[in-house]
Amino acid sequence: MTRRYNFCAGPAALPTPVLERAREEMLDYRGHGLSVMEMSHRSPEFEAIAGAAEANLRTLLQIPDNYRVLFMQGGATMQFACVPLNLLGGGGTPNYLDTGIWSGKAIKEADHLAGSHLAATSRASGYVDVPRNDAIALSADAAYLHYCHNETIGGLAYDYTPDVAVPLVCDMSSSILSTPLDVSRYGVIYAGAQKNIGPAGLTLVIVRDDLLGQALPRTPSLLDWKVYADNASMINTPPTYAWYLAGLVFEWLRDDVGGIEAMATINRRKAATLYGAIDASDFYSNPIAPVNRSLMNVPFVLADEALNNTFLDEAEAAGLLNLKGHRSVGGMRASLYNAVTEQAVDALVAFMGDFERRHG
Ligand code: PMP
Repeated sequence: MTRRYNFCAGPAALPTPVLERAREEMLDYRGHGLSVMEMSHRSPEFEAIAGAAEANLRTLLQIPDNYRVLFMQGGATMQFACVPLNLLGGGGTPNYLDTGIWSGKAIKEADHLAGSHLAATSRASGYVDVPRNDAIALSADAAYLHYCHNETIGGLAYDYTPDVAVPLVCDMSSSILSTPLDVSRYGVIYAGAQKNIGPAGLTLVIVRDDLLGQALPRTPSLLDWKVYADNASMINTPPTYAWYLAGLVFEWLRDDVGGIEAMATINRRKAATLYGAIDASDFYSNPIAPVNRSLMNVPFVLADEALNNTFLDEAEAAGLLNLKGHRSVGGMRASLYNAVTEQAVDALVAFMGDFERRHG
């Protein structure tokens, strides 16, 4: 068996030791004689799995006691709706920062449900940077400020945490667990699992407890954060296997990697290696302002677009998978999530150098 290098933006690479452990435990979870997939979510075995996953996540991110961790489904996209539904019960206008495709989708959903105020946008620059804090203009009745920390398609990330007088709500789907995070700066953080957390099907929400119980009356109970908080995220059948695998990923981060600081050091090195190779060549380029370059998603284009398909075909033959850019922007994109090893990045950079020598 050969595991190839996977640069997919999501569902993304999972750590090999996590998959090996899941394989070992697949048929008989620790002597219980069942697969985790076959267990009741109300069994003591699964409750222990669920509780340990939450406890490990809390330790990794140093989540303060006044925050609740919710294990939901529906992806980050469902949270685009949950955010206004859960935070507007007391009135006010949703405020948003626009930095590209994912923040744009969140804005569209808020507009659909409640209307929104655009507090700042980097559209004028072509989304190659993020609005600075002093450019953020909240509406007088702002209920919250939403932003997307890492634009997965654009390859654009905030280099600071917005400092505003209303609850900060952040889509961290593609950057959570990649670098240390001060949870106390936020009202709500949410993330789809299929990048740095585990397999698709699970969505994490971290919410400050004073923000619970402010849902609009029409909010369906399955979209109501308080209902999840009051029922240990088991209002209905949760995605049990994805929850279990997320727990294995958290243990891997703690025990094999050594925590989030250690992970961040590796992530910074991986990104520096790839951006360094791009910047050192006239053959490859990345448009993002250096301070806002994403550590997780690195889009790049070839000087000669006619070579795109040859690049992708040869990369695949060399064991480097999923380097095609998002269909809306074209070019290439290498996602360097936590489970993508330094060895994978070195192999990519070596391939890029070789490709340039042969085609440049
Ligand atoms: N936000 C960001 C930043 C994303 O990268 C994605 C998915 N790539 C989403 C939201 C949507 O996530 P989901 O598919 O889990 O709904």
